[in-house]
Amino acid sequence: MIPAAFDYVAPTSLDDALSRLHAEGDDAKILAGGHSLLPLMKLRLAAPALLIDLGNLSDLRYIRETDGWIEIGSMTTYAEIERSHLIRDHLPLLAQAASLVGDAQVRHRGTIGGAMAHADPAGDIPAVAVALSGEIRVRSVTGIREIASADFFVSIFETVLTPSEIVTELRFPIATDASQHYEKFRRRMCDWAIVGSAVNVLTKDDRFTAARVVLTNVGPTPIRATVVESALLGATTDEASIKAACDHASDGLDPTPEFNASTEYKKHLSNVITRRAVSKALGRA
Ligand SMILES: Cc1cc2nc3c(=O)[nH]c(=O)nc-3n(C[C@H](O)[C@H](O)[C@H](O)COP(=O)(O)OP(=O)(O)OC[C@H]3O[C@@H](n4cnc5c(N)ncnc54)[C@H](O)[C@@H]3O)c2cc1C
Repeated sequence: MIPAAFDYVAPTSLDDALSRLHAEGDDAKILAGGHSLLPLMKLRLAAPALLIDLGNLSDLRYIRETDGWIEIGSMTTYAEIERSHLIRDHLPLLAQAASLVGDAQVRHRGTIGGAMAHADPAGDIPAVAVALSGEIRVRSVTGIREIASADFFVSIFETVLTPSEIVTELRFPIATDASQHYEKFRRRMCDWAIVGSAVNVLTKDDRFTAARVVLTNVGPTPIRATVVESALLGATTDEASIKAACDHASDGLDPTPEFNASTEYKKHLSNVITRRAVSKALGRA
């Protein structure tokens, strides 16, 4: 399939990119890794008049530690994230989820900023960002906004970004003693998640002292399994307590059925893979 005709610019500074985006408004689209936008254009589900390619902006490609936070430039790829020692050491949930996105080609082109802006309910990174209490820094010609990832997603493929804003950075607080795991259920290697579960917990003396559990692809946005979070809090870390809590992961969910999974199956999976994710976060097989 061939996309509709479009113009293309590749600015060499963020200020330039922001000015072009501001000038063109709704007619322009940011191009990052292109692994979601270009297929949409080829299917003619998107037809921007202008693509503003951020590929030259190497200053949006970094992973660094600053004052208890890990900061990641929006043009950083999944491959860079999965290989980063800083991220493996401090945000193992993110490193692990990045390693499960698509195939090696997708991971070498796809970016963390693109994953957030695209807001695919089946995308792995949005749920992980919410589970890690990440913040998103966005810029426009008029200034900078910091948005909590829990407030970023509005609906399917929809965020609070305005047409003239660019995601420039994601930042995550470092939680030194956290236990984390992302469990992704898919039919075949390289597929999107049928359901995913991102778990980030703290324990002390064999009890859970904090819990964040966020599900992928069971609603229009990443969904916090708040019933599980409450049930884990104060509970013992034995398998029976974990199962009792995680059997509520699907409470209140009504996931849209898809070719590979009915609503009921997705609800069942939510419970099962959340239990697995919590157990694996604690280092159990
Ligand atoms: C074969 C295949 C398999 C895949 N499998 C998975 C999978 O298993 N899990 C998964 O999570 N994803 C998967 N993906 C999607 C992949 O992760 C995409 O790369 C990602 O969703 C978008 O990132 P991108 O950098 O390619 O963004 P692009 O495609 O360039 O852009 C996507 C959207 O975000 C906007 N955008 C991009 N960057 C910014 C920015 N900095 N500021 C503002 N707006 C921006 C664009 O304008 C566009 O609307 C797969 C893709 C393919 C092609």
